[in-house]
Amino acid sequence: PPEPDVVALQHADIARLLPAPAPESDKYRRGVVGVVAGSARYPGAAVLAVAGALRGGAGAVRYVGPAADAVIARFPEALVHAGPPHKAGRVQAWVVGPGLGDDEDARRALADVVASDVPVLVDADGLRLLPDAGERRAPTLLTPHAGEAAALLGTSRAEVEANRLRSVRALAERFGATALLKGSTTLIASATGPARVNPTGTGWLATAGSGDVLSGLVGSLLAAGLHPRDAAAAGAYLHGLAARRVAGRPGSPITAHEVAQALPGAWADVR
Ligand code: AMP
Ligand code: MG
Repeated sequence: PPEPDVVALQHADIARLLPAPAPESDKYRRGVVGVVAGSARYPGAAVLAVAGALRGGAGAVRYVGPAADAVIARFPEALVHAGPPHKAGRVQAWVVGPGLGDDEDARRALADVVASDVPVLVDADGLRLLPDAGERRAPTLLTPHAGEAAALLGTSRAEVEANRLRSVRALAERFGATALLKGSTTLIASATGPARVNPTGTGWLATAGSGDVLSGLVGSLLAAGLHPRDAAAAGAYLHGLAARRVAGRPGSPITAHEVAQALPGAWADVR
């Protein structure tokens, strides 16, 4: 039979993807994820991205940026660095963009990460600045919502919303990347193969900061060695499950921080 255009993510597939530490594992072998996020104006985005990253399966999280004090106050587990990302020490994947702003420091930090030879997840402000950030030599994962996708594609948000599947495929093709298009149905596409749709989301996730948690989570899965389309799939699935655990049924308002805190329970649900 012909290959389907879209496949729904299923529990058993996600269970197979989630990393588990081997007996001889150490934190470096589990992977180190670097997070370049936050600004004087948006320190909380850095905290939430680190919160997601700490629960994503990497062995350590390095935060690079101006919100180090806020990050360390909340997460003493994080390693924090000032200066350019490439001087922060080895990482297996980068997350760049949540709350980053668009000043000269933000542009420099993005260009530095884009020039690296490890997988990079670009979200939020990083997506706005991406067209000027230089060439990528290693896998890239873009995680826009409809508005960010529209800006990247030079179209309107309404056009993206009306053509979500076509839009996520166009992003993957145009940027030579894997693309995860957020929203009521999260879609994931790479250059080849069927698109994937995540069934675990809930409208309660439409709350400030939840996308920042997703970025950190997916970046951590990248650092643990998952292919970008698998990291995106497992991350979206766990993120939705975590939100449902917090919101309950039929549900109540949730915060992004609570979603991050519920991620260990979501992992346990999948296993
Ligand atoms: P962001 O737009 O970056 O803040 O990310 C929002 C997060 O909430 C993403 O994970 C979206 O997929 C999710 N989300 C937003 N709206 C909805 C919705 N109506 N139903 C389910 N998930 C949503
Ligand atoms: Mg966002």
